[in-house]
Amino acid sequence: MNKTELCGRVRRSAEAMGIALPEAAPEQFYLYYQMIEEANGRMNLTRVLEPEEAVDRHFMDSLAPLALGWTDGAQTLCDVGTGAGFPGVPLAIARPGLRVVLMDSLNKRVEFLKQVIGELGLNAQAIHGRAEDLARNARLRDAFDLSTARAVAALPTLLELSLPFVRPGGAMICYKGPGLDEEMERAQNALNRLCGRVEAVRQVPIPGRDWDHRLLKIKKLSETPRAYPRKSGDPNRKPL
Ligand code: SAM
Repeated sequence: MNKTELCGRVRRSAEAMGIALPEAAPEQFYLYYQMIEEANGRMNLTRVLEPEEAVDRHFMDSLAPLALGWTDGAQTLCDVGTGAGFPGVPLAIARPGLRVVLMDSLNKRVEFLKQVIGELGLNAQAIHGRAEDLARNARLRDAFDLSTARAVAALPTLLELSLPFVRPGGAMICYKGPGLDEEMERAQNALNRLCGRVEAVRQVPIPGRDWDHRLLKIKKLSETPRAYPRKSGDPNRKPL
């Protein structure tokens, strides 16, 4: 797939999803795709995908909350466990006014993301660290209008990793699949302890695909109690 084709697919899919993109966005997505492809040859960055699937599964899927207006009015967003940059980088490309902080515990991915940010000129920053530790940093804790996470952990664990970064009144957006109902049942205790409330569950179809992807929005009601997140590894080993 050449540049024109990839840019065309991004433009058409975004339009079909009702998402307005800045003029520079399709070309930035093409550059990003090229950087992922090149880096995947050197390191295990993300599962190698054909360009069509990369556009749909990584780029369009990441942009789905925009179709619901879930980022409207937000100025800051942190993406926890961003990996090769999903969903944080596509959101930064599509909404240049949004200040995006990308976090991951694997430094080689963070180094790659620093290159992407520089090359694409994104309004973003990449930080290396475990979410449990970074959430103890006063500049990051209770600080962001929004947090996002895709394919990082099951909901009870994910709430403890991601919700501490959100300011009271802000929201956490989780990218989930068909197992969401069951995860939500198990997450009641974590929601209560971390001062979260389920606000919405929605599906945004990706053009031409019949994936059962679900988006969950959790509102943060008040500051994260001092006990959370617990020490590194505990949210995974002993979910609330
Ligand atoms: N969000 C990306 C996506 O959808 O393609 C990456 C998903 S990947 C399966 C999970 C990522 O979360 C990995 O890059 C891993 O290093 C990171 N991760 C897992 N636990 C973490 C933690 N406690 N703090 C920060 N990053 C974490």
